[in-house]
Amino acid sequence: MTTRDPAMTLPPAPPPSSATATMRANRATNTGPEVALRRELHARGCRYRLGVRLVLPARAVRPDVTFRKQRVAVFVDGCFWHSCPTHGRKPSDPTGYWAAKLGRNRDRDDAVNRALDEAGWSVIRIWEHEPVAEAADRVIAALQTSASGGHQRVATLETRESRR
Ligand SMILES: [Zn+2]
Repeated sequence: MTTRDPAMTLPPAPPPSSATATMRANRATNTGPEVALRRELHARGCRYRLGVRLVLPARAVRPDVTFRKQRVAVFVDGCFWHSCPTHGRKPSDPTGYWAAKLGRNRDRDDAVNRALDEAGWSVIRIWEHEPVAEAADRVIAALQTSASGGHQRVATLETRESRR
């Protein structure tokens, strides 16, 4: 053992070959589960925006599906990338590269959730393994909650923003 951490001086390890295909598939913006959810929401009469970049006080975020008026942000999370408790298996990882990367993903998810919550948004995170009908139910429940009680917080936030 030396006093220097080899991870600090070496380039990142390449992904284990067994995991590469999954990761490449999950990196795409329009993943199968996300498209299925959008289709289901549209069929139920929900009108949303895609690829919206929200600049919040804490940070900018880009939800997969955005309901701006109701302030509901939806993310469809890949089981591998976001460490699903059921399918988030760890690739064989002697260098610690993937453990660190997945840890950073979790930290970013937490920060995004916090930033949205602080700005008066509801955050819905859907696992890619979730049945699409159940996922849509959760989104619609959030929209209804927002419609019945979220207005006061929204008004407060907008007043604050307009003073900047
Ligand atoms: Zn899963």
